[in-house]
Amino acid sequence: MKERALNDVAGLEAALERANELKMDAISYMEKRPVIKTGLTSRADNEKRRKHILELLQADESDWNDWKWQMRNRISDPRLLGEVLHLDAVEQKRIEKVGNVYRWAVSPYYLSLIDKDYYNSPIYRQAVPDIRELVEGGSLDPMQEALTSPAPSVTRRYPDRLIINVTNICPMFCRHCQRRRNIGENDQNVHRDDIKQALDYVAANPEIRDVLITGGDALMLSDQTLDWLLTELDNIPHVEIKRIGTRTPVTLPQRITPSLCQVLSKHPPIYINTQFNHPLEITAEAKRACDRLVQAGAVLGNQAVLLRGINDNPAIMRCLNHELLRIRVRPYYIFHPKEVKGTSHWWVSIRCGLDIMESLRGHTSGLAVPTYILNAPGGLGKIPLAPQYILGIEPGKVKLRTWEGRIVEIADGEDVVYN
Ligand SMILES: *Cc1c(COP(=O)(O)O)cnc(C)c1O
Repeated sequence: MKERALNDVAGLEAALERANELKMDAISYMEKRPVIKTGLTSRADNEKRRKHILELLQADESDWNDWKWQMRNRISDPRLLGEVLHLDAVEQKRIEKVGNVYRWAVSPYYLSLIDKDYYNSPIYRQAVPDIRELVEGGSLDPMQEALTSPAPSVTRRYPDRLIINVTNICPMFCRHCQRRRNIGENDQNVHRDDIKQALDYVAANPEIRDVLITGGDALMLSDQTLDWLLTELDNIPHVEIKRIGTRTPVTLPQRITPSLCQVLSKHPPIYINTQFNHPLEITAEAKRACDRLVQAGAVLGNQAVLLRGINDNPAIMRCLNHELLRIRVRPYYIFHPKEVKGTSHWWVSIRCGLDIMESLRGHTSGLAVPTYILNAPGGLGKIPLAPQYILGIEPGKVKLRTWEGRIVEIADGEDVVYN
């Protein structure tokens, strides 16, 4: 009895010491957190910008909340942008010059999120052309999507799942877009006949159990067309799940209407992947859009892109993932930026991505740790990149490293031979 009590005291002392060590680890992030702005803490500034934009466009609240008004009034004129943000003539000229090569447009909503110091704002930089887009380097189609399309609008790189591209339309043409070559001068949904051929391909190939609807932005389809497409997919017995790729919760949350949600709720199971890249994008409007999608039964995930100067930083990435979990979006992937022509100013090293992954795992909730992915050239598929935790494997013995870098050795079990 007495010995046990002594053990308890020693155990408690050790636990308290350990807890203190862990607290120190948490504090180093907590000290950085207050200077990171989010869409919720910037609400007052966004509100001012919103009023100003409404004034310039001579529109009212009900216009603002109408996604079709947002689409019709996408800003793609350097002079109008200049008026909204008080840009100087030199910057307007630069935007015009790049705009002649690569199309640009931004929804009034997304523009209203721009930070005061707009040249450095993660919002401005994702939305507005940058002169560095004209730097040589990269290719237009590094993934060679053209070589992995067995049917119209289909991209197939995996055994049991594929993509159907339904549109080239987007609420905003992200400056880091990997599919720039698809963004023509004209907004176009894919022709119904092509989508039918894609559906025929899915129906004819029983191993396809997972279909991703993407674009462009998949939610640029009308509610009726989406309802038709989801119904067609539901009618193919071997299609188990449907996924939708859309950035509307970020760039056009007004799109997530009750009637859209009504459609989505008829076709479970639906997984929606979106792309929040910075905490400033997590606004009250974005949260409401995600709430509605969750209520419609969709499961939400995030596919961030690692972007130089936006989120190439452990504290910002951790904050982004925490804020996402609060609005019920599970961080799914962080994509390493591809070598797409016109995007070289976004590229960062793989080392940078690995350091971010290292800073997340163990230090914060596993739910806040997405998988870091590099897309292999030539459309050969996604490659997960992770810091090395296995230091050595020998028969019966494995040497590992913990999230804090402590070395441990464990006895290993027998290999299993599968038939
Ligand atoms: C990314 C991708 C998928 C989905 O991959 P998951 O790892 O299952 O999310 C499917 N098809 C293509 C062509 C892709 O590029």
